[in-house]
Amino acid sequence: MKTLWRAALADAGILPGEALVYPFPGTQSSTEQFSAVTWLPGRVDGIQDPEVDAIVGELNHSESVRTTRVAVWIDRSEPDVAGLTRHELQHALQFAAERRLARLHEIAEDVVRLAADSAERYQLIPTEMDANRAASQFVRSYFPDVGVDEMIGDQDSALRRDPGPEIPLETLPEQMILFLVDNGGLCEQWAGTKADMRRRLNSAWPGAGDIWEAALKGESPT
Ligand SMILES: [Zn+2]
Repeated sequence: MKTLWRAALADAGILPGEALVYPFPGTQSSTEQFSAVTWLPGRVDGIQDPEVDAIVGELNHSESVRTTRVAVWIDRSEPDVAGLTRHELQHALQFAAERRLARLHEIAEDVVRLAADSAERYQLIPTEMDANRAASQFVRSYFPDVGVDEMIGDQDSALRRDPGPEIPLETLPEQMILFLVDNGGLCEQWAGTKADMRRRLNSAWPGAGDIWEAALKGESPT
């Protein structure tokens, strides 16, 4: 894990002193809430997951609280551990570049949970697509001999599929809002009404709700 972690950090352009990894046995947390999770620098609380709660003291230790912390459940193939780790580091880069993006990401996650095809739709969230692209690129370069394309079909396949073109980080906020426009009906269902969704989005990112509502109506936002 140590060598792999170093390689994933280098690939993400993150210095070793800036991030810590917490490997856990199993494929996901006992609440099935996480197979991996990332915390940006700052205090961690209110997780309600027994394994993570058990290390909250460590996560919030004066040394670690200043770093990005990544927990990974590592009972999976080595390429998948690599992919999952790099995926999480990409979220760290996204949310460090723009903290409000993390809130749009959470909203998108909650919204797609309501869809009948939530697993497939989840992969279309732009922040997810970008994290999977970074993961896939890393896995392909780190394990050149593994037939990544042949392995597609298992639960971690999104980490290894064709990475596709680079997604510039600065375009992610707009792409997230467009994703929520494409999923307008689900958003309304999630928030209650269009107005509630607009309010929630505006509180996550001032103005995002107004753009969302205007785009839903087919008006060009000004
Ligand atoms: Zn993710």
